[in-house]
Amino acid sequence: MYPARFEYFAPTNVDEALELLARYDDGDAKVLAGGMSLIPVMKLRIAAPAALVDINRIDGLDTLAEEDGSLRIGALVRHKTCEHSDLLKSKYGALGAAAPLISDPIVRNLGTVAGSVAHADPQGDWGSALLALRAELVVRSADGERTIPIDEFFFGPFMTALQPNELITEIRVPTPARSAGTYLKLERKVGDFATAGVAVHVAMANGTVDQAGIALTGVGATNLRAEAAEQALVGRALDDEAIDEAARLAAEGAEPQDDFRGTEEYKRNVVRIFTARGLHKAKEAIAS
Ligand SMILES: Cc1cc2nc3c(=O)[nH]c(=O)nc-3n(C[C@H](O)[C@H](O)[C@H](O)COP(=O)(O)OP(=O)(O)OC[C@H]3O[C@@H](n4cnc5c(N)ncnc54)[C@H](O)[C@@H]3O)c2cc1C
Repeated sequence: MYPARFEYFAPTNVDEALELLARYDDGDAKVLAGGMSLIPVMKLRIAAPAALVDINRIDGLDTLAEEDGSLRIGALVRHKTCEHSDLLKSKYGALGAAAPLISDPIVRNLGTVAGSVAHADPQGDWGSALLALRAELVVRSADGERTIPIDEFFFGPFMTALQPNELITEIRVPTPARSAGTYLKLERKVGDFATAGVAVHVAMANGTVDQAGIALTGVGATNLRAEAAEQALVGRALDDEAIDEAARLAAEGAEPQDDFRGTEEYKRNVVRIFTARGLHKAKEAIAS
């Protein structure tokens, strides 16, 4: 099917993009980033925006770099850039491990981290990695700028705190000290969305866990923080007992449903195993 008729704009700066979004203040204008999710839903006529505001010609939105104690991920940073980033692999393990697991090279070439978060598919991988690392989103509209902690961003499947006239200009991830993390994803075949996924991030201080981030993909209406599991780790040594308890609590905190990818029980079990595996991996990485 062809998409419904729409106006197309390709602004060359952020202010122009925001002015266009404000002009269609009933939410009838959509930001176009990689188009990997938006174009398919338009072709299926699930979405029929009156206008597309293509941000791909705006300079300066493709920054992937550390600055002032944060990693900055600009609105046009593609999955591919993250996949090849040594910085992510070395310091932001959950992000570095998630990137190559997103779909296939074609989607990774064009899809963006910010677009994925804005799309808010509960099976999206970035949401969990960013929850584990306690990211925040910098969002602008013609009225100004605000920052949204990732914990306050996802409302439900494909529903977020983002207003229709707002643009995510960048995602900021606090630069972690003495920490490690990873992302584990079960997919039926390469390129599939997650049957279940687990992002893990652990920061240590004086031999005990100072901060834990554990977040789950595909087992709830949004990417989910496994809060009880995180709390169970803080202040403890990262030993087998603590890891097993956190894994059990993460599985209990998951909200999976039976579907064609697996049963509720199966997915819960995957969460338990992956949480334990991720924590063991983080422990080894911190020790090395
Ligand atoms: C075959 C296929 C397989 C996939 N598999 C996976 C997978 O395994 N894991 C995974 O995580 N994802 C997967 N995806 C989704 C992919 O990661 C998309 O790239 C991503 O969800 C959307 O990013 P995008 O840049 O393409 O956004 P677009 O499609 O351009 O936009 C998506 C939505 O976000 C909005 N938006 C985009 N950028 C911004 C912004 N800066 N500010 C405000 N709103 C914005 C758009 O208006 C639109 O509503 C898959 C997609 C396809 C087509």
